Amino acid sequence: MAYIHKIDADRCKGCGLCVTICPKDVLEISEKVNTKGYFPAFQARPEDCIKCALCCSMCPDVAITITGTQDADQPQQAASTEDNDG
Ligand code: SF4
Ligand code: SF4
Repeated sequence: MAYIHKIDADRCKGCGLCVTICPKDVLEISEKVNTKGYFPAFQARPEDCIKCALCCSMCPDVAITITGTQDADQPQQAASTEDNDG
């Protein structure tokens, strides 16, 4: 199953919590205001997103969602973790 990571810019108040929590440094705060006059978060590096959903959990305004979809193209399966012996 593929997942779509979406930020609703007009719900965002630009608090930056999602930017801080993201372990992959995907998110940044935009330099353009949204309809409420805030600077919203956006995906500066969407290709690095691992869909961990930390940003969704963190957002106080529920502006970020991850939706599962079975029809979307699946770019690549993530490589399985490899054992490291030393
Ligand atoms: S889902 Fe995870 S990796 Fe993707 S933007 Fe949110 S916190 Fe970052
Ligand atoms: S946590 Fe939510 S409200 Fe705060 S910057 Fe991120 S998307 Fe916007």
